[in-house]
Amino acid sequence: MRIAFLGLGNMGGPMARNLVRAGHDVVGYDPVEAARRTAEAAGVSIAASGEEAVPGAGVVFTMFPSGAHVLAAYRGEDDAEGLLSAAEAGTLFIDSSTISVDEAREAAELARAAGHRALDTPVSGGVAGADAGTLTFMVGGPAEEYDAALPLLEVMGRKIVHCGVSGAGQATKACNNMLLAVTMIGASEAFVLGEKLGLSDQVLYDVMSSSAAQCWAVSTNCPVPGPVETSPANHEYRPGFATSLMAKDLGLALAALESTGTRAEFGRAAQKLYEEFEESGHGGLDFSAIIQTIREGNR
Ligand code: NAD
Repeated sequence: MRIAFLGLGNMGGPMARNLVRAGHDVVGYDPVEAARRTAEAAGVSIAASGEEAVPGAGVVFTMFPSGAHVLAAYRGEDDAEGLLSAAEAGTLFIDSSTISVDEAREAAELARAAGHRALDTPVSGGVAGADAGTLTFMVGGPAEEYDAALPLLEVMGRKIVHCGVSGAGQATKACNNMLLAVTMIGASEAFVLGEKLGLSDQVLYDVMSSSAAQCWAVSTNCPVPGPVETSPANHEYRPGFATSLMAKDLGLALAALESTGTRAEFGRAAQKLYEEFEESGHGGLDFSAIIQTIREGNR
């Protein structure tokens, strides 16, 4: 079966390449020439536009920067035909971009109204996971669509979770990343307090990483240099998971908090802190570098 893969950037490029390596016929498009060239070298046939890539494809993947990109491409812009009208009836549209829950629901509704099938399948695992084919996919949409997509998602990912109806994949990602941000800030505050109380980071790590406070932010992505050799803190906070991506994901979590009227003081505080950290020029650092802000606030 032919697969269209649109958005051949940092994530989409290696994901499309893994589909090619698994023996699929993949046709792709990206407006960025360098992305097209890299994908072509990996065996992706390049179409002249997204709309030209989709006819004849049973499945259309999108891996775009934002929900606005997804909705514009589905609908078509400035009199140009959109992906939904260019595709053959019954095409399975799989959007792996990280977008808001409301945008994901809207995209799925548009696809269904145009006679297609749709899933939201945001990922975690970063560029390294996309490259190695070890992503986690959080999937929202009907069981039948999920079953149809599973063999393809398994090519690109190691863990595939069916989270519920359309939008549930994005909802799961928003909740997961909001908690991740809160735990990283909490871990950072504990290390800064420990330092002020005269504890060594190593002592605190030894206890917290094996006590009830144990979490990924302490044990794997520890925000202080020393205890975990592979954590970004030991490598000048090179990502890892960049602050700019965390700030984006927290913006989407905030939109979900607002649209559901959910009180979540820590989630809102985390969103504000990461937004400020990004705006002060730290977007390229791993998100564990938030400890720098917490230290500065305590000088
Ligand atoms: P990227 O900017 O490298 O790639 C996105 C690509 O989409 C760009 O090359 C862009 O030219 C292309 N594009 C935009 N509109 C298009 C259109 N209409 N048709 C075809 N191509 C189009 O971004 P990325 O890092 O690959 O991230 C993609 C998505 O994955 C984002 O939503 C991001 O939040 C999410 N994500 C990224 C990571 C990561 O570590 N980079 C991790 C998890 C999730």
